[in-house]
Amino acid sequence: MGFDTLQDEDKRYIRSIVSPERFSTGESNLDLHSRDMSGHRASRPEAVVWPKESAEVSRILGYADQRRIPVTAWGAGTSLEGNPIPLHGGIVLDFTQMDSILEIRQDDFQADVEPGVIYKDLNHKLRHTGLFFPPDPGAGATIGGMIANNASGIRTVRYGSTKDNVLRLVVVLANGEIIEIGNRASKTSSGFDLLHLFVGSEGMLGIVVEATLRLVGLPAEIASAVATFQTVEDAGKAVFAIIRAGLDPAALELLAPECIDLINRQKNLGLHISPTLFMEFHGPTRNHLMEVMGIAEGLCREHACREFRPGLDREERDRLLEARYALGDMIRQDHPDHFRIAIDVAVPISAYPEMIAFAGETARKAGAGAAYTFGHAGDGNIHLVVETERGNRDAWQRIKEANRSVVHKALALKGTATGEHGVGIGKAQFMEAEHGRSLEWMKKVKQLLDPHAILNPGKMFP
Ligand SMILES: Cc1cc2nc3c(=O)[nH]c(=O)nc-3n(C[C@H](O)[C@H](O)[C@H](O)COP(=O)(O)OP(=O)(O)OC[C@H]3O[C@@H](n4cnc5c(N)ncnc54)[C@H](O)[C@@H]3O)c2cc1C
Repeated sequence: MGFDTLQDEDKRYIRSIVSPERFSTGESNLDLHSRDMSGHRASRPEAVVWPKESAEVSRILGYADQRRIPVTAWGAGTSLEGNPIPLHGGIVLDFTQMDSILEIRQDDFQADVEPGVIYKDLNHKLRHTGLFFPPDPGAGATIGGMIANNASGIRTVRYGSTKDNVLRLVVVLANGEIIEIGNRASKTSSGFDLLHLFVGSEGMLGIVVEATLRLVGLPAEIASAVATFQTVEDAGKAVFAIIRAGLDPAALELLAPECIDLINRQKNLGLHISPTLFMEFHGPTRNHLMEVMGIAEGLCREHACREFRPGLDREERDRLLEARYALGDMIRQDHPDHFRIAIDVAVPISAYPEMIAFAGETARKAGAGAAYTFGHAGDGNIHLVVETERGNRDAWQRIKEANRSVVHKALALKGTATGEHGVGIGKAQFMEAEHGRSLEWMKKVKQLLDPHAILNPGKMFP
């Protein structure tokens, strides 16, 4: 697909749609929108626009579609697979100024928001209502970016990922048409499920300009525990046992010893350096949670748990969670000059022990440099971050090979190439292996909704 570059007349036209300070071709703005938080090669847009209204987005898309100019949406740029990198230049629509919380309807457990709202700000605003928006990817992600990547996080095991918490979207299509999808009912059997076609579409089918989100009540009681194990595989088996027993954890995080070591060094937590599970349960009463915790301890002990420490107080729990959220950044900061790949796969929960054993072994064999295994274990999600010094081409090849073999193992176990980071650039190479013939139908959907392929081109399809 050939694209046109931005001409002076295009710039003049776009400037006539948004006020001058919301259009930039300045070097630093182009650079800031040329890379996300992954190691994928930077690629600059030709202009950055900060829309404030859906009508502006609609006019820009309608124009760009006619002129065959690529348009890539931008949230906070925290993606880990190159998802918002404007590979073919064109216009980046940065949504950080379209960030109003339009309405909170406490009685319906819903909020209407613009795409640039940062989910943490939404939860801060909700703190006195007894409600919260559960998907929590940790980084300062926007709602638009979370919808586009179908982001999830520590609490997904109980409350679902972004797709489970979006009820309605307003979307601008590639030709500039604005459509409303979904409704405010908590369930529906009406029509094809277009809503979930757009969630996870990485800004390639349309641009989200408003969303109605599902909120949930803050739990009455929270109980948490840390369990340490002999081996990562034992910890994986305990995860399976806890899920199979129907204990419904609100968080079930696995951290391999190298992650605990890093957290201890950077956050001074003094944790035992062993394979560790951090678990949290939400429930109506203290007694109920004590019973659940007792069963969880029993199951962990059956899998060679060395130490089970329940009853973390709020401060301790917050420190642990904060450290877990910050782990990705800690890895980056520990060796800022290293190249790394953050592998993100998910498998059916019964295959989790086998998957982590394989991931650890693959990292060891690659022998490239530091490797960190962790993940949202409760939903079968594993992250393996493998890194090496810049310039070590040999090691880099081995890391890429490790990435391929971990992903193919996940697929062989009937899992997925990406549990939560999306496809972007990095996972496009696995789409055929994962989706087979249905990938052709994804391409047809793309062709139907974006016939000139102007939306976030160069992603998803190999
Ligand atoms: C330290 C760290 C930890 C992370 N942990 C997690 C985690 O636990 N779970 C998880 O899921 N992710 C995690 N991520 C990845 C990242 O935070 C998520 O993918 C997040 O959803 C990206 O949101 P963003 O606002 O930064 O979007 P961006 O990175 O800016 O964009 C993401 C995609 O959304 C598209 N997009 C943006 N806005 C719109 C819009 N309005 N309409 C249509 N498309 C749009 C972009 O084109 C792009 O394809 C982590 C990242 C970091 C750096």
